[in-house]
Amino acid sequence: MSVLPIITIPNPLLKQKSLPVENITEEVKELVENMRETMLFHKSCVGIAAVQVAALSRIIIVDVSLAQTPHRSSGLLVMINPVIAYSSGKSSSREGCLSVPDFIGSVTRKKKIEVEYLDINGQKQRLKTEGFEAVCIQHEIDHLDGYVFLDRVTSVKTDVFRR
Ligand SMILES: [Zn+2]
Repeated sequence: MSVLPIITIPNPLLKQKSLPVENITEEVKELVENMRETMLFHKSCVGIAAVQVAALSRIIIVDVSLAQTPHRSSGLLVMINPVIAYSSGKSSSREGCLSVPDFIGSVTRKKKIEVEYLDINGQKQRLKTEGFEAVCIQHEIDHLDGYVFLDRVTSVKTDVFRR
């Protein structure tokens, strides 16, 4: 297992759409392990998308139990080909990102979501969640579609702050 380098803006890979995972091969499992190591290496990091380690695969990992403040958590979530099947409500919070090292931003997202995905064993899963965990999942899925939180703020002038 190894900690992989994180790519940061303006790396053009961060604007690309990641590709669906067709088969959960040994290579995919190794990538997931390395993503997890990389996430744990960065203190208080609660989520990572494969593109952040330069792999254009639709894989995200979220674990909000790693946050500095307590949140309702489903524990470690490895999501392959995640799709938001249902969402409702609105919630605004401050987001940071390893790929946008110098800034945090105030972003409005859906409050509640239901996500369909494959787990690491290729089993279909459906998760209902809300609050901080739901925000993190939406942030990471955005990466798979080529967006960072800066693309989601209403105004770069009033909603983005230097760390
Ligand atoms: Zn991010």
